[in-house]
Amino acid sequence: MSRKQVTIDGNEAASYVAFKTNEVIAIYPITPSSNMGENADAWAAVGERNIWGVVPRVREMQSEGGAAGAVHGTLQTGSLTTTFTASQGLLLMIPNMFKIAGEQTSTVFHIAARAIATHALSIFGDHSDVMATRSCGWAMLFANSVQETMDFALIAQAATLRARVPFLHVFDGFRTSHEVMKIERLADEDMRALLAADLIHAHRRRALSPDHPVMRGTAQNPDVFFQSRERANPFYAATPGIVQELMDKFAAQTGRQYHLFDYVGAAEAERIIIMMGSGCETAEETIAALCARGEKVGLVKVRLYRPFSAEALLAALPQTTKAIAVLDRTKEPGGAGEPLYQDVLTAIGESVIVGDLPFATIPRVIGGRYGLASKEFTPAMAKAVFDELKQATPKNHFSVGINDDVTFLSLAFDEHFSIEKDDEVRALFWGLGADGTVGANKNTIKIIGEETDNYAQGYFVYDSKKSGAMTVSHLRFGPHPIKSTYLIRQANFIAVHQFNFIERYDVLEAAAEGATFLLNSPFAPDEVWAKLPRTMQAEIIAKRIKFYCINAYDVARANRMGTRINTIMQTCFFAISGVLPRAEAIAQIKESIKKTYGKRGEQVVQQNYAAVDAALAHLHEVQVPAQVTSEFERPPAVAPNAPAFVQQVTAEILAGHGDRLPVSAFPADGTYPLATAQWEKRNIALDVPVWEPDLCIACGKCIMVCPHSTIRAKVCEESQLLNAPAGFKHMPAKWRELADQRYTIQVAVEDCTGCRLCVEVCPAKDKTNLERKALNMTPQLPLREAGRANWDYFLTLPDMHKNGAM
Ligand code: SF4
Ligand code: SF4
Repeated sequence: MSRKQVTIDGNEAASYVAFKTNEVIAIYPITPSSNMGENADAWAAVGERNIWGVVPRVREMQSEGGAAGAVHGTLQTGSLTTTFTASQGLLLMIPNMFKIAGEQTSTVFHIAARAIATHALSIFGDHSDVMATRSCGWAMLFANSVQETMDFALIAQAATLRARVPFLHVFDGFRTSHEVMKIERLADEDMRALLAADLIHAHRRRALSPDHPVMRGTAQNPDVFFQSRERANPFYAATPGIVQELMDKFAAQTGRQYHLFDYVGAAEAERIIIMMGSGCETAEETIAALCARGEKVGLVKVRLYRPFSAEALLAALPQTTKAIAVLDRTKEPGGAGEPLYQDVLTAIGESVIVGDLPFATIPRVIGGRYGLASKEFTPAMAKAVFDELKQATPKNHFSVGINDDVTFLSLAFDEHFSIEKDDEVRALFWGLGADGTVGANKNTIKIIGEETDNYAQGYFVYDSKKSGAMTVSHLRFGPHPIKSTYLIRQANFIAVHQFNFIERYDVLEAAAEGATFLLNSPFAPDEVWAKLPRTMQAEIIAKRIKFYCINAYDVARANRMGTRINTIMQTCFFAISGVLPRAEAIAQIKESIKKTYGKRGEQVVQQNYAAVDAALAHLHEVQVPAQVTSEFERPPAVAPNAPAFVQQVTAEILAGHGDRLPVSAFPADGTYPLATAQWEKRNIALDVPVWEPDLCIACGKCIMVCPHSTIRAKVCEESQLLNAPAGFKHMPAKWRELADQRYTIQVAVEDCTGCRLCVEVCPAKDKTNLERKALNMTPQLPLREAGRANWDYFLTLPDMHKNGAM
């Protein structure tokens, strides 16, 4: 059977199967699972059908609690029903989850696993949400990659119908839910082959119906509740066997064989990691590298976590096992250990007690935490765990990936340990949230993944602030399947789409020797070198980086594309990265422009074509001098007069060095000082408003409308302006009761986002030139220094009291 190769993310993989194999889908959005509901809603809206030819009913509820209630209700009518969620959303579903499981109902919830808010909220991925539902009575099947997410969505759906145990199908939030990967899409026939019609009919026959009335959901006294609860045991006992049978059937159908616990590594491995989720991919890649050096190491990937089959776990471990590290992506404060560690320990302990342990000696077992809230889990960290297992008394209850200088539980790791491959292209793109960088990169992955034989992977690092904050896209392309579920450490290509980033971040830190660097620069090729900070120039020279620049905003404006630079920067990437032959790449970009913009008319398509050609014409290689010539250094992340906490903690976070902060840097209870945001100068606006006092009528509308309070007014005595910086604008206050006072409007040019709302709302116009208002957008860069001085002075002026007193 031929199956389509598609380049999609984990959320699309899960929702594709969920949509195809269900009739009712109740949704409520929560990051990072929202796209699953959005996909289902969009597909239903255009009449896409499931494998039985029916358009599923998709309904958005008022909360995740409502979604779970709707699922529970429709399941009781015999419908095949599903939902998608994460984090606190899953917690809201717990009451219904107990009921659904207690009634032995078949359903799958697809979970993009995410941290639960504790000392702080986090939208990022770990297993603390699903671990909080362990007692609900649901099976849990963990997928480690985008392909597995599609495959396990089907296996879970088939298994729940046979086992009559509801399933959580779990994959890692962001790392898998948002990772774009080239995978093989399951065909409708694959799904029909696994979903037995008689089991679907049996599910329907169990529906509550007036045609065959029964009572379900009784209240029971102490005399019978306990026995009834134990009555469910056979269902759970049978589930692992059912899942394995379906995994075997799936393998016969698709060629991809899975087991309840999959072992990879040396046949005679002595040191073993046991874990689940996307971190397994990194561990597997590391093990391949360590085994090639002769190390006896291995990995057990836990697929079916609940019901937990101790027998299958012990059978998966090599008989040569001497030491085991169990890695949990969750934290259970005060527990005897994290959940998977305890399960493994129990499995081994019970086996020792009954005397059927399949190893020559009782292995030493230690447990550790990693990857909370999407903290990176790298090959260096996996190696550190294996190294710890070599110790005579390895550290137990450790953490890896952080520096714990409070309880000293963390493992040290070698940051420079790298196993990145020579035959892979690794590209980093620094963009601004909503500037089109991520969209263009997803398009690039599609072109390379679907139009060539290369494998492709894309992962996008978002800031929680989303729109207007930095995004870094990590793209890998190569001839072999990609298992690197961690950020790129050595890039062959780096593009910076916003010039001001070079002042804020060490954007070339991950550049490999001989890498290519593309900068969107407002400066000409012969001027730009002098505009780089000294350390950046030194990096370019030392790493022999090939440096290209383009003024993408100019090219976009000239081609009537406003500030949309995505097509231009994408064209430059293909022109100089060498990932595809140049002519072929440009043809593919134009083809994709036709697909994307064709609906919006030929003019838009031609505009984009022109931008592609103009991009090539305006792309220049910069001649790199042999010596550092710059006269300035990258400024500190915050001003030197910032408070100590801001200097020591906030500044590190703003500079992108939050990972380096030790445990002791943080408050124990999530309590932080206020007003620290004022120290972050993002400088993201290309243009900012400039005030013209000769036109202003002092209506105050601009001040009212600014979403960030970055344009403000004050009234003061003239004498208070004697020391104002040159160019500090003011005018007579226009109110009778403030006669002799001065009125000033100032803009925090480094904080303004350039949204133009203040300009749009300003009613004052120059009657001789209607284009000129009392506020006009003007390029920010030349105004920055003076604007900073004006704003700082403005803040020193006294505020007027509400009653008019100064
Ligand atoms: S452009 Fe937007 S952010 Fe900037 S001052 Fe005006 S309203 Fe505020
Ligand atoms: S909206 Fe225009 S006229 Fe009104 S206070 Fe602001 S700048 Fe002056």
